[in-house]
Amino acid sequence: MLSVREQFPIFGQLVEGQRLVYLDSAATTQKPQPVLKALGDHYRLRNANIHRATHALGRQATRAFEAARDELAQFVNAPERESLIITRGATDGLNLIANGYLAPRLMAGDELVITALEHHANLLPWQRLAHRHGAQLKVAPLDGDGNLDLAAYARLLGPQTRLVAMAHVSNVLGTVLPVAEMVQLAHEVGAVTVVDGTQAAAHLAIDVQALGCDFYVLSGHKMYGPTGVGALYGRLELLEALEPVTLGGEMVAEVDYHSVRFAELPYRLEAGTPPIAEAIAMGAAAMFITGLDRQRLREHEADLLEQLRTTLAAIDGVTLIGSPESQVALQSFTVAGWHPHDLARALDLRGIAVRAGHHCAQPLVKALGLVGTVRASLGVYSGSDCITALGLALRDLLADSDQPSQQLGRVQLPAGPWAQRYQALLKLGREQPRWLAAEQVAATAVIGCESKTWLRLWQEGEAVYAAGDSDSALIRGVIALLVAQVNGLPPGQMRDFDYDDYLDREGLWRELSPSRGNGLRAIINALRHLAGERDRVI
Ligand SMILES: *Cc1c(COP(=O)(O)O)cnc(C)c1O
Repeated sequence: MLSVREQFPIFGQLVEGQRLVYLDSAATTQKPQPVLKALGDHYRLRNANIHRATHALGRQATRAFEAARDELAQFVNAPERESLIITRGATDGLNLIANGYLAPRLMAGDELVITALEHHANLLPWQRLAHRHGAQLKVAPLDGDGNLDLAAYARLLGPQTRLVAMAHVSNVLGTVLPVAEMVQLAHEVGAVTVVDGTQAAAHLAIDVQALGCDFYVLSGHKMYGPTGVGALYGRLELLEALEPVTLGGEMVAEVDYHSVRFAELPYRLEAGTPPIAEAIAMGAAAMFITGLDRQRLREHEADLLEQLRTTLAAIDGVTLIGSPESQVALQSFTVAGWHPHDLARALDLRGIAVRAGHHCAQPLVKALGLVGTVRASLGVYSGSDCITALGLALRDLLADSDQPSQQLGRVQLPAGPWAQRYQALLKLGREQPRWLAAEQVAATAVIGCESKTWLRLWQEGEAVYAAGDSDSALIRGVIALLVAQVNGLPPGQMRDFDYDDYLDREGLWRELSPSRGNGLRAIINALRHLAGERDRVI
């Protein structure tokens, strides 16, 4: 038996010349050999469309696809195979429930309850229906540690509550929600329950009968399976009441030009050719997970989470976000003076993959008063070496005096002739981590600079910080120099800082070409403007 990590071929290679430290499993997990084999075998050995084929390959493909349904039904302990629908992902499953089950029933005055930590996929479908139907969307709050406030949740429930949607596990905080209790409370008021199990599947044993929920959705790619596939479990009578949203082939028993009789479950909810190879491989992923020693795995992950939290907490300037009572192996954090994206990019340059931003749970991140977090998330292949690498890289970054954003006021150009100072400015610029394309957008663009330039401000308590990027290394250097003088100040002081005087003293006004000077003026104006806006907010 290979060690678990050896079953994941991706770790056998260098990525851009570096060994991969992958701490982004909550965004998507890597894929083990049996999943890759199932995916490849389908196309290599038995590729055919399923269900209607009258030939050998079609029979084999159909058998493999339906076997995957059995494996996934078993994986969540569904009472019967017909209650397991193959979808195109968790998002697809949640939208199917919203549009097929809730939409035809929701009335003005009805209430829906979600929690404060939901992924957009388990918020937006309900939010839209509530708007359209005049229903009210209520949000169950968290306590200060990131636990669901169960008492407050119970108070939101009432005779008008039609549906409650909850994550099993938060993708931002790692919180494991008390789903069985929440479902029971919801059922006491007659509400239907939907559980987004996307982040649970890779970490917890799932038993929909023990949870008692009405619907439970899975995503293939977050549980060591492929992208583009998922599964939806529903109690049979609810699935029978669920109107097909997507109409087409495969889902019908009898069609005339003017009427249709849909097929039986599960086929009536699987219109069109499904992601066949992906579903088969997702079945293989479920088998891979259940084939592991789950008890040992949980202990291993608990140890790693403990190590991750201890490692991060021991670094000056790092703040852990959330400390729930029950948490899977992922941890969000922030670092004083660093925008999460800049930190993630700087870690990326050291070969460490983490995720930064709002993690598709923007309302939660806003409620925490943050612009985003950096999230390190683990999988079965993660080891303490990954966490050690993260800790070392963070310490290294925070100690590196060439990084201006947290070495306040210490970035200075050398004295001496302009040529030397220009070289130093260029060097500083080249050392700045470049932003990702998704961050180089209109919202951050600085108008009036001849090079493409971007700037953003964020706030930590009373202090504001700025960071920028530009196509020009020189401009990157200038921005790094400028913001190092003002980062950490209150917004009013950042706005009123005497940039002209500073740049005069550094000789920059004198030495830069007029067009560069205009760009510099635009950057200063943008900085002042953004800081001024912050000042109004406080
Ligand atoms: C990733 C994620 C989703 C969306 O899953 P897809 O299968 O990628 O559509 C939904 N909910 C949570 C909690 C997630 O982490």
